[in-house]
Amino acid sequence: MGSEFDFTNKVILIVEDIDTSSRFYKAALKATNAKLILVENGQTAVDVFDSSRNIDLVFLDLNLPDFDGFEVLKHIRKTNKDIPIVVQTAYMLSGEEETSYELGANDFITKPITIEILQKTIASNLS
Ligand SMILES: [Mg+2]
Repeated sequence: MGSEFDFTNKVILIVEDIDTSSRFYKAALKATNAKLILVENGQTAVDVFDSSRNIDLVFLDLNLPDFDGFEVLKHIRKTNKDIPIVVQTAYMLSGEEETSYELGANDFITKPITIEILQKTIASNLS
């Protein structure tokens, strides 16, 4: 299956602890040619972000096994005001969207996430 989007040479850090979700993102983005870095928890996300210079976008789950996604968001924004961060969550809890934007997220989406929503959201946040 082709895609109307071409993310060749774009590196996307995907922070997601649920394996079925990670596999969905991989499959959904395969045709875009994006390079994906998949990590399963907040600490690894922070470590990978700090040691990489070529990440173009962060796709961040709020519900992680070690610390919550807001901590990852805060950490990234301390050193990088510009990188696009898309927050996604399985549950629309009161205040999560507002808090995400306050902490510097560029976009916020909730599950279920379709291939179309995923590709369009990433395209509109990659500059
Ligand atoms: Mg999760």
